[in-house]
Amino acid sequence: MDVSHILESLNDAQREAVTAAPGSYLILAGAGSGKTRVLTHRIAWQVQTENISPHSILAVTFTNKAAASMKARIESLLDMPLRGMWVGTFHGLAHRLLRTHWQDAKLPQNFQILDADDQLRVVKRVLANLQLDEKKWPARQAVWFINAQKDEGLRPQHIEDYGDLYTKTHLDIYRAYEEACERGGMVDFAELLLRAHELWLNNPALLKHYQRRFSHLLVDEFQDTNAIQYAWLRVLAGDQDNMLVVGDDDQSIYGWRGAKIENIQKFSTDFPNSRTIRLEQNYRSTGAILKAANGLIDGNADRLGKELWTDQGDGDLLNLYSAFNEVDEARYIVSRVKDWLAQGNSYKEAAILYRSNAQSRVLEEAMLRSQIPYRIYGGQRFFERMEIRHVLAYLRLVSNRDADAAFERVVNTPTRGIGDRTVNEIRQQARANNISMWRAAKQLIENPNSKGRVKNAVNGFLELIADIDDATTDADLVSLCEIVIDKSGLKDYYEKERGERGQARLENLEELITAARTFDPEEDSVFSDEADGVPLTILDEFLNHAALEAGEGQGNANDDCVQMMTLHSAKGLEFPLVFLAGMEEGLFPHGRSVEEPGRLEEERRLCYVGITRAMKQLYLTYAESRRINGAETYNRVSRFVNEIPKDLMQEVRAQTSVTRPAQTSFSTSGISSRGIRPSAMTGASVDGTDFKLGQQVVHSKFGEGVVLNYEGDGKQARVQVNFGSEGSKWLMLAYANLQAL
Ligand code: ATP
Ligand code: MG
Repeated sequence: MDVSHILESLNDAQREAVTAAPGSYLILAGAGSGKTRVLTHRIAWQVQTENISPHSILAVTFTNKAAASMKARIESLLDMPLRGMWVGTFHGLAHRLLRTHWQDAKLPQNFQILDADDQLRVVKRVLANLQLDEKKWPARQAVWFINAQKDEGLRPQHIEDYGDLYTKTHLDIYRAYEEACERGGMVDFAELLLRAHELWLNNPALLKHYQRRFSHLLVDEFQDTNAIQYAWLRVLAGDQDNMLVVGDDDQSIYGWRGAKIENIQKFSTDFPNSRTIRLEQNYRSTGAILKAANGLIDGNADRLGKELWTDQGDGDLLNLYSAFNEVDEARYIVSRVKDWLAQGNSYKEAAILYRSNAQSRVLEEAMLRSQIPYRIYGGQRFFERMEIRHVLAYLRLVSNRDADAAFERVVNTPTRGIGDRTVNEIRQQARANNISMWRAAKQLIENPNSKGRVKNAVNGFLELIADIDDATTDADLVSLCEIVIDKSGLKDYYEKERGERGQARLENLEELITAARTFDPEEDSVFSDEADGVPLTILDEFLNHAALEAGEGQGNANDDCVQMMTLHSAKGLEFPLVFLAGMEEGLFPHGRSVEEPGRLEEERRLCYVGITRAMKQLYLTYAESRRINGAETYNRVSRFVNEIPKDLMQEVRAQTSVTRPAQTSFSTSGISSRGIRPSAMTGASVDGTDFKLGQQVVHSKFGEGVVLNYEGDGKQARVQVNFGSEGSKWLMLAYANLQAL
């Protein structure tokens, strides 16, 4: 078989890594140097020239999106579908293992995955049961404590409190939470990893089986593995010494979630026979972008130190836009995206990256208004939207009556007269008798002392679920969703919620049906291609998919959409055109991080990740004032902007449609540290006609007036005009048909 195409377009160092004899390797290299490429090509190479069975390969990466693209890359190299190869995220693979070996893992067969929101609810319930005041013991802090312990591989019995009240209380919470999860057959994300690790430790025979099977381990984004992930890998690798890891210490951005950058250093010690291979040529970005990234990351101490160079020319300069506020920032980005399209490019080549999910809404609105298709990864994820979670909870109950988190969510949604007090009673009954809430609810109905009204209401709910179950016995996933949405009363409920909100929720429900329609367990499930896996119903597959994927995106990945995501979820990806929005102190670097040097360095690495996503063009934008999370903030430009060498960047100011006369009476408020801000721009023009502050104009309906203010640019440009007796009005320049006097 001709395998030369696998080695084509690899440089010497890459080729060496791809074709190296079995053994352990650390590929340590900067962004865009072809690490992921090496990983996929090595898999293809091994399958094709060394006759390694795809069955014996396990490849791990960080996000579902990255896993999917890795799979696709390998398939296209091999020109055949990948059967039996385990390619996925740590969570996905752990989940798959636990599903297959639920008995050995001491789990019920239909265990359910708790996502972050579910976990918080369960912890809140635990706090209430322990009669702990949430003001003193915030649920989020408890969640954080529990997950941090699990990430370190620690169960409550492994932890000493040394008489410290904080630790002691959190240990009590951890213990009670474990019991609650045990009772409900619930597994949170951190638990997936911990259980999978314990599965190895407690079942030597099983471990042996998988050690023999997975003789080839490959790990992408190694710098972001945490203690438990690394431990899991090490145990699996055993003494086979055949693991290839690729990573970049400068891109370690999950320290806050327990990732250990030290794992990179430890690897060479833990695998003493391993070799380190460095890749130094960057193939992704223009010279200017690469220099900016290098200049920025220079500010961090204790780097492993890597050289990165490119033989592409410098390309375009980076652009810096200082916006008046977040709306202006969004408008500017939209206008650049339009230009990009007008130059014959496609939407999906453009990515807007931001530090915080809260930034996305304004950007989204600007896209919607301009009818630019976009897709958001992460954030207000599709499967996390409230109405979607309600439907999923119904589906979950249909599949498993003992799913307590689901029961709690929908027992009175939409409202059906089951008050908090009744729910509390059911909860306590469940706890006292160590049964699920469903069963406790049944007992409540059978109890002669219960009030008739309460009985009726609860009974109505139980019957509703049973009815839905009956009605859907032979239904496919799509009809199942339709029936649930209809019978549960959710549809009516949102139809009554008037206005855009209710409308949006209804649309989301429609979208869920679409998701069900396009759901393909072969492709979307994390483990269904496995013959030795336990067969699950398609509903369970879908629910697992929803919980795990937590909708890393909506819509179809192949659609031509502008890509929007947080910097964290952009890891490993690349786009010809990149916007880094919200380059402001307090937002990025994040407010909480600036006091701690370690966290500030992590923020800087995050910025390095952002910059190095760009292939051709990079825009940095910031807003002088920003309304975010309901508060108005005034921020300075991010220090990271100032850390980029000045000669690589041009400041974009006024649009072509804006003119700026030298004199303006607004200048006092308009001068900022970086010059005149757009709010103080004193004029706008449309179709070549200038409108300046103070200028006299005529409008066909309102008559004569004086220009008071101006905002936006291009088609979005608006002017405020005082029309005397008609009052002052904001008018869209593009439509107002104003005449200058
Ligand atoms: P990151 O650190 O961001 O994860 P990476 O090191 O994994 O980056 P890749 O994504 O594998 O880098 O590669 C970056 C880009 O460079 C890709 O578009 C890839 O196809 C291209 N590339 C890598 N090596 C070569 C090569 N030898 N010839 C041509 N293109 C290459
Ligand atoms: Mg990569």
